[in-house]
Amino acid sequence: MDENLIRKLEILAESAKYDISCASSGTTRKNRDGGIGSAHGWGICHSFTADGRCVSLLKIMLTNYCMFDCAYCINRHSNDIPRAGFTPKELANLTIEFYRRNYIEGLFLSSGIIKNADHTMERMLRVVTLLRNEHHFNGYIHMKAIPGASDELIAQAGLLVDRLSVNLEIPTERNLKLLAPDKDHQSIYQPMRHIQQHMLENIEDRKKFRSAPKFVPAGQSTQIIIGATDENDQQILQLTSKLYKRPSMKRVYYSGFVPVNSYDKRLPVTQEVPRTRENRLYQADWLLRFYQFDVNEIVNDEHPDLDLSIDPKLSWAVRNPHYFPVDVNRDSYQQILRVPGIGVKSAKLIVSARRHRKLNLDALKRIGVVLKRAQFFIICHEMKSFKLQDASPEYIKLSLQDTVRLTGPVSEQQSQQQPQQQPQQLAMVW
Ligand code: SF4
Repeated sequence: MDENLIRKLEILAESAKYDISCASSGTTRKNRDGGIGSAHGWGICHSFTADGRCVSLLKIMLTNYCMFDCAYCINRHSNDIPRAGFTPKELANLTIEFYRRNYIEGLFLSSGIIKNADHTMERMLRVVTLLRNEHHFNGYIHMKAIPGASDELIAQAGLLVDRLSVNLEIPTERNLKLLAPDKDHQSIYQPMRHIQQHMLENIEDRKKFRSAPKFVPAGQSTQIIIGATDENDQQILQLTSKLYKRPSMKRVYYSGFVPVNSYDKRLPVTQEVPRTRENRLYQADWLLRFYQFDVNEIVNDEHPDLDLSIDPKLSWAVRNPHYFPVDVNRDSYQQILRVPGIGVKSAKLIVSARRHRKLNLDALKRIGVVLKRAQFFIICHEMKSFKLQDASPEYIKLSLQDTVRLTGPVSEQQSQQQPQQQPQQLAMVW
């Protein structure tokens, strides 16, 4: 490969690494005759580097030149760093070459802003147009939509890529203005709204014309930086909850602040956001999406921040002892789902298995229930006593803290890691 191209690749892959909103999911586009690649989930989403980052996508910026000067970003205009830019053709060819060599299965494309939002989007659009229409590439493509980009360009991009994302970055307008004076929430929410509107229209179109092309079949995602500003977990999760109420929003990613511009006085002096906070937010996010929790049950005025010592589900359970015991042989699926140590799969299995026999501790263990946690909150057949009565919340917290394991990342829901850090992560023990 041309040395100049290799140098560009080094610079632009390095520049892209702080954007973590690139996990792919939810799309099943097949290869077509004469094309290459497919976007089946199993080919894409389950490859992570040792530090938890998805590597099956070529994660790259079209250019790291940027006219904006966001305080938290390595690529900001005022930083003296190596700069480079691909032509759309170079990047499309590179993607295809990497795909053919089996290095990657898809592309995650972002860019610094050059000239203006539309000019930047047009160049990115050119890359994906070349890939889809000239190279007939059917692999997964996730493209960043540039804040302030026109609806027309969003509409074109959405028909070519699997996922579009617009990063919120800073949860409140006040702090966004402080750290990224060139941006505002309006310019971020507007493309989000356009994506959603086109997705909804596309659903209607496809009801009438089944062959109509899909618009961003994997939906949209966004990223919030945690710890660069003073928002508490309640503010962050309230925002997340609102975002998930939009039917097109598939994932919110939480990126612990990495002090790449430590000389900037607007940024916090702390070196790093505790990794645990990032993980607790992902766990709370999981409760919102799959465990039917309302955000105010997880964080509220009394508990504005997540407890870092235990996961949010256990934290809710010890704060709400009146909810327990849950009788696994009688109570509803929704009630069983709230028990720490019982996940979605186990709750479904319990409801199904109890139709045939009364479940005791052995049966629950076989189903996959983590009894060390669940035992405090349930009653079942042959269980001698309800343990929560005999144990204080503090005792339960203390005894279950020991069960929080540190492991390597294992799956998409366990979040993405900050770059270049040890692969320590809290296991999801639900
Ligand atoms: S717009 Fe801001 S966050 Fe995006 S590349 Fe430019 S400086 Fe970085």
